[in-house]
Amino acid sequence: MKINSELELKTYLDNLENKLENINNKISQLSYQRYIDKEQKPEINTLQKQSSSILLNEDLFSLVSEWKGNVNDKVLSRRLEVWYNNLLIAKVDSKPEIIDLQQDISYKIMSNKYKVDNNNYTLGEIRAIIRADKNKHQREKAWKSHTELHNKVAKDMLELFRLRNKAAQELGYDTYVDLKLEMNNQMSKEVVMNLLNDLTAATDKFYKELLRKGADKLGIETIEPWDIQYILEQLGGVDKSFFPKNKLNSSLEEWANYMDFSLEDYGIESVFHDIPYNGLTMGLDRNTIKLLCNPDDGYSYYRTHFHELGHALHSALKEVDDYVLRRESTIFTEGIAEIFGYITSDKDWLTDFYKLDEEIATKALNSAIGPKYHYIRQRTAYCLFEYQAYENLEQDLDKLMASVDSNILDCTYNTTPRWSSNGWYVSYPIYWQNYVLADFVASQVHHHLKENIGSLVKDKKAFEYVVENYISEGALVPWLEKIKLGTGEELNSRAIISDLTKTF
Ligand SMILES: [Zn+2]
Repeated sequence: MKINSELELKTYLDNLENKLENINNKISQLSYQRYIDKEQKPEINTLQKQSSSILLNEDLFSLVSEWKGNVNDKVLSRRLEVWYNNLLIAKVDSKPEIIDLQQDISYKIMSNKYKVDNNNYTLGEIRAIIRADKNKHQREKAWKSHTELHNKVAKDMLELFRLRNKAAQELGYDTYVDLKLEMNNQMSKEVVMNLLNDLTAATDKFYKELLRKGADKLGIETIEPWDIQYILEQLGGVDKSFFPKNKLNSSLEEWANYMDFSLEDYGIESVFHDIPYNGLTMGLDRNTIKLLCNPDDGYSYYRTHFHELGHALHSALKEVDDYVLRRESTIFTEGIAEIFGYITSDKDWLTDFYKLDEEIATKALNSAIGPKYHYIRQRTAYCLFEYQAYENLEQDLDKLMASVDSNILDCTYNTTPRWSSNGWYVSYPIYWQNYVLADFVASQVHHHLKENIGSLVKDKKAFEYVVENYISEGALVPWLEKIKLGTGEELNSRAIISDLTKTF
């Protein structure tokens, strides 16, 4: 292919991006249908192959490499950078042998039945036992039921990790983790680990006291891995009936109306359906966005609902037109969603919008801290395990997981084989840091807003500021720069540490 001018290059990329957007929209529409009617859609595979064949085209890679850094137009220059990053990731993630192995393992994990006392359970049921069963022995058995699945997939999973590392090393990276973090998030592994370690160290005293206090209250002497979530989530709180699921949609709409828009204006529709996640936002095209959720009564579902609204607004309010610039770092994407999720953790929202008594609101906020710690610490542990595993695949990974878990969660050292039963390691590799760093983003943005602009709960100016500074330009401005420009400082751990160590 011969391109002679920036204009020709621009036209060429426009075409390609249109093609990709069409393919991806079709995939989203079919995946959405699959969630609704629960029927396989073989067409998705065909479409994914079409998209892979575009991304793996060597001529395209040469073209982008050749022009990158050599054009005058600012937007075109940024598009080439983003294209280059995407193509480099595709050289690993779209490799046919990697996709095949990934699909194979992910099917085994998805269809697995977990056994406790010869009864079969789904993953959701197993999680409910670990989270809430009063019987310590039952929780232990549920926790250990992951081993059978682990034994089925560990060998393949290790092979998958090896293939990813090998492909990344062929491109000049130390490990797959380094490639993925740098190309997707423009962050080095060291920077990410420093942020996570800062947070862990600074909140350690608070966390350990919280855990110990909870264990004492529940009469648990030795804290085993299967006690952590139970302790942190069963510390009491407000009755679920204060947060019924039938008020989720109206509270979303109410806040939107207060900010002068309606969900309908942007084609955003909330759909309750039995899906394997709490919430999932799917853009079927630029003007049709579904918030697919499977809620129950309870405070935490309100946060999820606003989080999903954040995803929807992130896509609806983006003004940049080029498809490749409409997708951003996965950390930042989760961060934007969390900025909106945080609205429900504000006392003003609970009292002024949701109309709870001050006393109940305070109780709800204080009781959310245990689950929040479980959320952050468990994800930090999954993430650190993944990074350290890719650094040396010859080491004993059962011991590695035991040591990471006992350090981060503050439980006993337990080498029960389990690491490969984690579905994210297959389908969403190098994703765990996103959830934790998303909270860094949301805390830092909220602190800056409150100190300088106003509250996102009830100041229109604050909402406009978020849209203008963090959403509308998309990837035209690199995300870490947007944070720095918007908040006046580099992404750091100060705001989240303060949020995680306060009581209401
Ligand atoms: Zn999300």
